[in-house]
Amino acid sequence: MLNTTNDQNGKIIVEYIWIGGSGLDLRSKARTLTKVDSVADLPIWNYDGSSCWQADTSSSEIELIPVALYDDPFRGKPNKLVLCETRVNNQKYTPGNFRRFARQVFSDENVKTHNPLFGIEQEYIISKRNKEGEDWPLGWVDGKKPTEQAYHYCGVGGKNVFGREIADAHYKVCLAAGVGIYGINAEVCPSQWEFQVGTTSGLKLCDDLWMARWLLQRVAETFGCDINFHPKPFEGLNGSGAHTNYSNTKSSEDKDMVETTKQIENLDKYHKRFMKLYGEDNNKRLVGAFETSSYDKFKYGVMDRSASIRIPQTTKDRGCGYYEDRRPASNMDPYVVCSLIFSATCLDGAFIDEIEEGYNEFTKRRDEKMGKGH
Ligand code: MN
Ligand code: MN
Ligand code: MN
Repeated sequence: MLNTTNDQNGKIIVEYIWIGGSGLDLRSKARTLTKVDSVADLPIWNYDGSSCWQADTSSSEIELIPVALYDDPFRGKPNKLVLCETRVNNQKYTPGNFRRFARQVFSDENVKTHNPLFGIEQEYIISKRNKEGEDWPLGWVDGKKPTEQAYHYCGVGGKNVFGREIADAHYKVCLAAGVGIYGINAEVCPSQWEFQVGTTSGLKLCDDLWMARWLLQRVAETFGCDINFHPKPFEGLNGSGAHTNYSNTKSSEDKDMVETTKQIENLDKYHKRFMKLYGEDNNKRLVGAFETSSYDKFKYGVMDRSASIRIPQTTKDRGCGYYEDRRPASNMDPYVVCSLIFSATCLDGAFIDEIEEGYNEFTKRRDEKMGKGH
């Protein structure tokens, strides 16, 4: 460790963080500023979009618009992290910037009326490069897939749980940064973990989840490890999801599940369309086994872990409360998923066409830039 001083001469380091062209890669760079009390104090900045699959070299500049401010748990106070939206030429947003839709969907007016609240369970696998240079989950015998998944879920012990230092350090840096993290647990597949963010309203929840994903990879980096967000990295073992727990005014003030059932039936109507927007390769995960639902068929039920929507027993008993969309994949964009769920259940499907169109434009452009099967 370098012997750096804590005296920054009144200056503040701000790390600007943004989503790159794959829609999942996070990028960041830092600069020196003097006064940072709120996001409004932060200047718009820019970066080379051609290095993140987002622009051509001939006109490569993409603007960074600071939107959500956090404390920097790595550099310590008074330094900051800021999540940014990305914009081209002062007005057109980059195709992967789905926050531009979420901003409209979760406008003050909509939030005031419907009070949408979310809690997301983000699953992931921790990996480290092996001698062959390929990513391999922590604790697995090199090149060999585990044959059982018995004692790993919420487990303890050296042959059951791998990477706890990373999951725990992530938990602490989330709290220090101001991310609304709810908890963590070891998952079913060896080296698989979960953290939860929320419960909170739409836009804040989505910003927190993206910041938590960056913090997780930043922590893993210090251990020489990486985070795998693929929904089904290994056949025959549990994949990774992002269960999305959800309530709103109507579901919370419901009598005997009448309004809640209506909402779930509205989600059914959009099932086929939403499945294309809930994360790539999710069809490999949602196979109806390994505690998942079917990709093709919508189903809901009380306490049912093979359902698309699970109604918790407490919600059923009280006749009101929250429910869980078990379909979203670990690599989904929360701005997309939360916007779609809220719109289908409370806004008569407003914005769904635009989001779908925007998503298709994004994947088309991404595949052009990165090549198929990137
Ligand atoms: Mn969970
Ligand atoms: Mn889980
Ligand atoms: Mn769950």
